[in-house]
Amino acid sequence: MRGRYVSNVYDEGLSDQEILIHIGLDDIDSHFGGCTTHLSYLIVKELLKTLNVEFIDYPNLVRLNPSIPFKTRGNGAVVLRLKTFRSNIKLLVKTLTDMTLKYLSEYEVSVGSDPGIALVFGDVPKELSRLYMKALTDYVHRDYLLNILNKLDNVETPLGTSRGVIGALAAIGWPQGSDCTYELLAYRVLRGVGERCVDKDSVKNADLKYSGYVFNNYDHEEDVLLITPHSNDPVLLGIRGEYPEVLINYFNELRICEPIGGYMIFRTNQGTDAHLILGNVNDVRPYRTLCLETTLKSKPEYLRGGHLIIKICDEPTLYAVFYKESSLTSIISKLGIGSKVILCGSIKQWDNLTNVMNVEKIHVIELVRTYVHNPKCPKCGKRMKSAGVGKGFKCDKCGYRTTNLNKEVIKEVININKTYTVRPYRMKHLTKPLCRYGKEKQCYYVKPSGNWIN
Ligand SMILES: [Zn+2]
Repeated sequence: MRGRYVSNVYDEGLSDQEILIHIGLDDIDSHFGGCTTHLSYLIVKELLKTLNVEFIDYPNLVRLNPSIPFKTRGNGAVVLRLKTFRSNIKLLVKTLTDMTLKYLSEYEVSVGSDPGIALVFGDVPKELSRLYMKALTDYVHRDYLLNILNKLDNVETPLGTSRGVIGALAAIGWPQGSDCTYELLAYRVLRGVGERCVDKDSVKNADLKYSGYVFNNYDHEEDVLLITPHSNDPVLLGIRGEYPEVLINYFNELRICEPIGGYMIFRTNQGTDAHLILGNVNDVRPYRTLCLETTLKSKPEYLRGGHLIIKICDEPTLYAVFYKESSLTSIISKLGIGSKVILCGSIKQWDNLTNVMNVEKIHVIELVRTYVHNPKCPKCGKRMKSAGVGKGFKCDKCGYRTTNLNKEVIKEVININKTYTVRPYRMKHLTKPLCRYGKEKQCYYVKPSGNWIN
């Protein structure tokens, strides 16, 4: 079935024209240390060395829905967008599949992953932009993928139509004009050995120097290094920022005390809140990510472990949970019933079948607090005291007693208009940190330049 387009391209007997190709790769992460970005790095190096290709964009690292349970927490796919001659296509596809299969066996990528490769020839069909939005904010069923593949004739899936193809195609569909950031990913030579040898102070200093252009690399409040992962994968470090040039300068100022395999700069949707789209309560379904504007329906209640839960909708019933580690609990515990907020996060279904939003961001519009006071003495104006159950109130100052007054309910409404997010080290790749507000940009394909790969 597939393979149609490639064979057409060969058989057309056309003069050797250039053609645009988008290559998507997904789900090549394994517990034994492989990862999709690392394979992409090796492929890019190989294509630059042996094939006459011209990259029309930085490699894209496209994060998709972080709440899909069987994907790794990062859920990141990679896209390579390049031009080459038609006569190169056969060799390109062979290089791609050979390298991927070799990588899969070398890193024993099999358990729990479903590697996918997809190629799109020419312009990206608009169906893929829709697939991107769905894979970013929802769960994509395999039938949805097969339906798209049947409609499009410029798509190839040389390793078959595994689940990984969903991510690979969705990532190709990341639309132009979206906000973007960059990440420099450096790779290790060492394998499977624990901690990365990167001098913490050098990161701290570089981070202060380039602050305003970089984000989530160092948590200065908690004094935590964020660029080095703790997993078993080949990533040495990742530096996140607004532009490629800044990342190279940052990287060059770090003191790294272990061998470096090389690095590559990716253009990404990280730190853009792309997955948090304002919806309404009818859009709530397990695995969806969204924002809801709502008024709080209950007081925050503590769960075991110091987490907070709050009711945000009566019909259908919907709760929001704020994990203690998120540090959002301190703000949410101040909010009374009726407070107006926008809550953003992903929907999980708990064992009792209640839908619960795991909140990663709050925008407090209006804080409502309710106080209940004893009434003031009608004679002298002092606040009265209770005279006992069912006996009304008495005044300590002038001795006045009454059973005709009720407690006063005072409602305090304060306009806040402020956004709160989780701490940087708890933040999902997609979440926009506060320091990026106002730095949003419209990004298009950017021809890579300078030392974007090493
Ligand atoms: Zn009085």
